[in-house]
Amino acid sequence: MTTALPSHTTPEVRSLLADALLHELSHGLGGPYHVLFPERFDANAAAFREVFAEAGVDGRVYYAKKANKAAVYAGRAAVAGLGVDVASHGELREALAAGVRGADLVVTGPAKTDALLRVAVLQGALIAVDALDELDRLIAMSHQLARTARVLLRRLPPEQPHSRFGLDDGELASALTRCVEGPVDMEGFSFHLSGYDVRQRADLAVELVHLCGRARELGLRADRVSVGGGFAVDYVAAEDWRRFEESRRPEHFHAGKSFGGFYPYHSPVAGADALRTMLAATPAGEHTSLAALLRAAGVTLLVEPGRALLDQAGFTVFRVQGVKERDGYAVLTVDGSSLSLSEQWFDSEFLPDPVLVPAGSRPVADAGPYPACVGAATCLESDMLTWRKIPFPLRPAVGDLLVYLNTAGYQMDSNESPFHELPLPPKVVVEQSASAQSSPFRWRLDRHPA
Ligand SMILES: *Cc1c(COP(=O)(O)O)cnc(C)c1O
Repeated sequence: MTTALPSHTTPEVRSLLADALLHELSHGLGGPYHVLFPERFDANAAAFREVFAEAGVDGRVYYAKKANKAAVYAGRAAVAGLGVDVASHGELREALAAGVRGADLVVTGPAKTDALLRVAVLQGALIAVDALDELDRLIAMSHQLARTARVLLRRLPPEQPHSRFGLDDGELASALTRCVEGPVDMEGFSFHLSGYDVRQRADLAVELVHLCGRARELGLRADRVSVGGGFAVDYVAAEDWRRFEESRRPEHFHAGKSFGGFYPYHSPVAGADALRTMLAATPAGEHTSLAALLRAAGVTLLVEPGRALLDQAGFTVFRVQGVKERDGYAVLTVDGSSLSLSEQWFDSEFLPDPVLVPAGSRPVADAGPYPACVGAATCLESDMLTWRKIPFPLRPAVGDLLVYLNTAGYQMDSNESPFHELPLPPKVVVEQSASAQSSPFRWRLDRHPA
C-alpha cells in the first residue's frame, strides 16, 4: 500500500475545506477552478522583508511573475511596494496594469525583444542583461531614445557551466567595458541558479559583491546583486516524505508508472527561512557572514522569489465525475485535465495528496483507506493528474471534490490550454470576510483574462 503524503495546510485552507462554498463554486462555475489567497501572499512577502530587516541588510523583494498568471498577486505586490520580476512583454504589461511602477520592475529572460527592451528603458525598469548582443541592442536603443538604461549583468553560474543563461568571465569583462562607454547605469550583477542550494547561492552572491568592487573601479555604480529565486517550498512533513521515498515502488502507481524524479516536496529550510540561512552563511573563502559582507560593501541584495511567495497562496478544485474499480484500487475521473497541474508535464508528478471533500455525509466505512489514482476528462491515456494510488480515508464518489493544495506556485496555469474545448479553470480570489456575515469568506473572480 502506498503511503500517505498529506499536504501542509493553513488555518484559512482548513476552514475553507470545511465550508459549503467549495461545492457551491464547483456547481456555479460548472468545472474545475483555482482558489487564490492574496492574504497569504502578503504574509509571505512580509516574512522575506522581515528577514532583511532582522539581518540589517538593505534588500528588495521582486515577485517572479511567471509563477502564476493571476492579476491579484501582482496587484498585492504593487500595494505592498514589492518589485516584480517580468520576463516578457505580456508580464510587463500586466505588472504595470496592476500598479507596479516601472522603476520597481526587473526584466529578466534571455534575448529580450526590442519591443520589451524599449518599454523597459522608457519605464526606467532594471534590465538583467543575459548576453553581449543583447547589451549592444540595449545600448543602441538607449542612444535612440536618449535615455539611460538601468542594467544588471547576469553571471553564468560557474557551478552550472552548461546553463544557457548568463555571461562567462570573458563576456563579463567585455560587457563592463561597453557599460563604461554606453548610456548605461550599471547597477550590479545577477544570477539565477537552478535547484535550492542555499550555500551555493551565498558563495556566488559574495563573488558578485566582489565583482561590484571591480566594476566600481571602472567608475560604474555597481551597488546591487540579485540572487534570483529558488527559495524552496515545504509541501509535506519530513517523516511522511522519508517514508514515501523509502517505500516507493512502481506498483504504488497506476500502470506501474515510474518517474525520472520528483520535486523535493519536503524541504527542511524553506521560503524566507532560506534567505535567513543564506544571509547568515559564511561564504567559501570568507571570514564573516554574507550579511556582514553586503553591509561592508554597501551592496543591496535583490531576491526574486516566485514559488516561495505563493506558498499556501492557492489551491485547485476538481469534481469527481466517475469512479471505476480496478484490481484493488479505483480510477477516478475528474472534470479537468492535468494541464492544470503542471508537474505532470515535466515527466513528474505533483505528489502531495489531494483532499477529498465529500458531496454529502456518507456512512464512514470500516475498512479504509481506499487507494485511487486520478485521471483527466480527456481521451489521452497519459493524461493523469495523479498516477500514484492515493490512500483516501473515504471511498470517493461521483460529486465529491478533489482539492489539490498549495498549487499557486507554477502548478495552476503554466501549462493550461483549452484542450478538448474544456474551458480554462477560472481563478477565484478568496479573502476573509471583514464583517460578521453568514460566511467567513468573500470571493470574486480574478480579472486576468483566462
Ligand atoms: C523563474 C525565475 C525566478 C523565480 O524562481 P522561483 O524558483 O519560483 O523562486 C526568479 N528569477 C528568475 C530570473 C527566474 O527565471
